[in-house]
Amino acid sequence: MLKVPFLGMAKQKKTIFITGGVLSSIGKGISAASIGMLMEQRGMRVSMLKMDPYINIDPGTMSPLQHGEVFVLDDGSETDLDLGHYSRFVRHASFTKKNSFTTGRVYDAVIRRERAGGYLGKTVQVIPHITDEIQRLIREATEDAEVAIVEVGGTVGDIEGLPFLEAIRQMRTQEGVGNVLVVHLTLVPYIAAARELKTKPTQHSVRELRAIGIQPDILLCRSDRTLPKDVKDKIGLFCSVPGEQVFSAKDVASIYEVPLYFHEEGLDEKIIELLGIWSPRPDLGRWQEMVTRLLDPSLRVLRIGIIGKYTDAHDSYKSLSEALAHAAGAQQARVDMIFVDAEAATDTALLASLDGILVPGGFGERGVAGKIAAIRYAREHSIPYFGICLGMQLMVIEYARSLGMLEANSSEFQPDGAWNVVDFMPGQSHDGDKGASMRLGAYTCDLKPETLAHQAYDRGQISERHRHRFEVSPKFSDLLQEKGLIVSGTHNDKLVEIVELPGHPWFLGCQFHPEFLSHPLAPHPLFLAFLEAAGKK
Ligand code: GLN
Repeated sequence: MLKVPFLGMAKQKKTIFITGGVLSSIGKGISAASIGMLMEQRGMRVSMLKMDPYINIDPGTMSPLQHGEVFVLDDGSETDLDLGHYSRFVRHASFTKKNSFTTGRVYDAVIRRERAGGYLGKTVQVIPHITDEIQRLIREATEDAEVAIVEVGGTVGDIEGLPFLEAIRQMRTQEGVGNVLVVHLTLVPYIAAARELKTKPTQHSVRELRAIGIQPDILLCRSDRTLPKDVKDKIGLFCSVPGEQVFSAKDVASIYEVPLYFHEEGLDEKIIELLGIWSPRPDLGRWQEMVTRLLDPSLRVLRIGIIGKYTDAHDSYKSLSEALAHAAGAQQARVDMIFVDAEAATDTALLASLDGILVPGGFGERGVAGKIAAIRYAREHSIPYFGICLGMQLMVIEYARSLGMLEANSSEFQPDGAWNVVDFMPGQSHDGDKGASMRLGAYTCDLKPETLAHQAYDRGQISERHRHRFEVSPKFSDLLQEKGLIVSGTHNDKLVEIVELPGHPWFLGCQFHPEFLSHPLAPHPLFLAFLEAAGKK
């Protein structure tokens, strides 16, 4: 539970901007999420926002290979995977469409307003119109928060990031000193040949930021080690930041260790001091316990095969791997994810060596035959199986084929097939806007008593997030049930949400994406049940 709100007397919302320098992938999202977590644990009402400089309206249509997974929210927004980190670290914030936006969305709004005559004949320009819209969206997303944490995607120096930084520069002047803080994340590499930590990239990146008028308040320096005081002082001196406002962001074994490490370094204490707020020290006991459990070297290892298409791009399965880790931690185990390329999933020796098989969500026909072969192997050899979204649809197809419906398929792969047990939702239009035809976001699901699903959740109704176009066809669902398929979850008695098979240790598929709702302190029931079965194999 949250502690007493920190400052009933606060009139002014505080905003922390997180920018990144030197290069991408040094952990800006995790740093933002960790700061959010520490502020929340200090009893503050936190809001998180991600601003992405690319032109796509949202990441919904982007390849997971390029952009990692698409993280879906309850309201159906398709967002950046950083929103997934935020949700796993900041437990009490609610995330909606407002909590992330892109350059595309900003321009879209400004151009629509211009077409509607909203600018009264003015020349519409990046400054002030685009920057004003950015500020409006920031304020709208963070209005209910005591502390707002706003992450700017990309790296300082990128052309497309400039309007965002200009908006931050202006907001800082408008909101007043002490109400806005800029935390800049940089890289301090250790050069082995020189046996030295190199500060030059940090100096250059801060110079870049200052050239656009932003003086960072705090420097977070990613490095393979904790920075000694003299290095912090040197960075501080060259970047005009007091040495005690330069912090290490050392590589750690688990992302969940990051906030603990920041806290040890004194980062949250310094943030509240600079923002002029008082709050109790955070209680990190449960979090610390969870991290200790995750990193316990004596844990039993469960080998879970992930049969997918993007086996080299682990970011495309970010929430999935986190959900597996959360559930494993709760069972004194660690999951070894064995990524199996669906096109090579016929290696039965490999499949036999697995404790569990999981087919995650996916789109398109490539790899489908291999996924179906792996599902068949799991069914016939009593290996616990968990099918998520596409993995559930393929489970239904495989089962139908095993009953002799040899042509059973999905309209996704066989548009006019007579045996499409997976089909478009009844009455759904399926042409035009690629982003518009999906079932997206939270839907309720009623669970049938005495099923694996009901046993796992231990209640009658749940709500889970969706992102798909196809469904189990109502034309075939009665027949499949007569032949043994158990429909253990439905939405409004109509749409099939969860299916399972009897006479098998654990064989279950769900049409939704349970991985989006797993939290390190509250692992998801289906992942827990799946791994429990895998542990008994
Ligand atoms: N391609 C399938 C569909 O659109 C499954 C989608 C998914 O797994 N997210 O229904």
